[in-house]
Amino acid sequence: MKLRFHDHAFQRCISGTCGATFDVGETLVACPRCGELLDVDYDWDRCPVPGSLREFEQAWARRHDPHAFSGVWRFHALLPFAPRELCVTIGEGQTFLQRADWVAGYVGLKPGCLFLQYEGMNPSGSFKDNGMAAAFTHARLLGAQRAACASTGNTSASLALYCAVTRLMRAVIFVGSGKIAFGKLAQALEFGALTIQIQGDFDDAMARVKEVSRELGIYLVNSVNPFRLEGQKTIMYRVLEGLRWEVPDWVVVPGGNLGNSSAFGKAFWELKQLGLIDRMPRMAIVNATGANTLSQLVNTHCVTWNGGRPNRESISQFYQAMDRENRRASTIASAIEINRPVNLSKCLRALEWCRGVVCEVSDQEILDAKAQVGMGGFGCEPASAASVAGAKRLVEQGIIGKEERVVCVLTGHQLKDPNATVAYHTTDQEVFNKVLGCRGVRRATFANRAVVVPNDLDEIIKALRLYG
Ligand SMILES: *Cc1c(COP(=O)(O)O)cnc(C)c1O
Ligand SMILES: [Zn+2]
Repeated sequence: MKLRFHDHAFQRCISGTCGATFDVGETLVACPRCGELLDVDYDWDRCPVPGSLREFEQAWARRHDPHAFSGVWRFHALLPFAPRELCVTIGEGQTFLQRADWVAGYVGLKPGCLFLQYEGMNPSGSFKDNGMAAAFTHARLLGAQRAACASTGNTSASLALYCAVTRLMRAVIFVGSGKIAFGKLAQALEFGALTIQIQGDFDDAMARVKEVSRELGIYLVNSVNPFRLEGQKTIMYRVLEGLRWEVPDWVVVPGGNLGNSSAFGKAFWELKQLGLIDRMPRMAIVNATGANTLSQLVNTHCVTWNGGRPNRESISQFYQAMDRENRRASTIASAIEINRPVNLSKCLRALEWCRGVVCEVSDQEILDAKAQVGMGGFGCEPASAASVAGAKRLVEQGIIGKEERVVCVLTGHQLKDPNATVAYHTTDQEVFNKVLGCRGVRRATFANRAVVVPNDLDEIIKALRLYG
């Protein structure tokens, strides 16, 4: 059955050679004609869009209305694929941009130049809730009974939470074995998701969940779902809001499945087309060295968007070599430990729209940056700190100027992965080696080690005199 929610919203294949369109009432994760990814697109002439971004501030006065309170749905006019009153919200997106001068010093930027968009403050503790609110809304409109995802952890935590709060669907999550941080697994289990552990990594789980959901008609909420990305656009609306609607010079984001970077590019591109911003920011996408598919493809193999005709040959050769040599992603930043990023082509488009760059940072750089983010008063998980580590590198390389305005997205909360944090600060060399040493992390540059003291008042006082 085909449903028409809104005549002015539709799905469109992003391929420059196809461009087929489909109803928003269809559940698709790829173009049925050519296999490319789909966008949710709008006939903007028929959508009531405010004349200026400032008008969105009016929602602040109506916080008793859940759709005005939601950091996603108060921007409904910019993602109008479903009637506002049917949009699902659990209070996501109460996150804002925060000036971070301590971290700016570490990154090498002037005070007042670095801002952190702290998405760890979402209900499930990561930015995924922004996308889930939108995908879940779409699933609900289609009457889905079950929703599934493959996950490195945060998507499953988010899905499980939306299911538990709304009681609208059953959550089915696929995780790789041993590949999920405990904080995230704990959430999925406690929120009651049906949890399927696959012997394999994220990419294996992803391939399976696609098959299973097609076979059994389960709604898929991974970021191949174009509705997910509509919700994630709003992270950038809130960044603009935090800068009093001025466009930053740079947005820096970790790259895993590349949903965020794709969504951010689309958000700014649409605002530019609508005349709501006057210029595009630049974007930097940060890979972990141990999971550097995007960086390799863009920087070494020179793959570009190329007007919707990226070089498929180079991409498939790269993946063939990866399989042949049995190269598998490996990084402490488990949220970006991905071999085949599902949104690669959309991300290439975003790189073109935003004159983007891609860089790599080691696990050492990630953990040192994470420690500095913590010292500055922001708790994030390893993948999130990749953005700060990447910004530091790009400043050192002179690509980002010291006086430019830079926004790093902190994608997930500190408590998602306490193992990594504790191992970094530990006094126990064995723990350090087991968790971090095996990943090429040599030192905990900014470790804040516990002081070990005998259970004795004098000794404790002596220790305080010495270290306090
Ligand atoms: C999902 C996730 C990422 C990766 O984002 P993509 O949109 O897949 O590139 C990064 N950090 C955290 C904390 C995540 O949960
Ligand atoms: Zn197509």
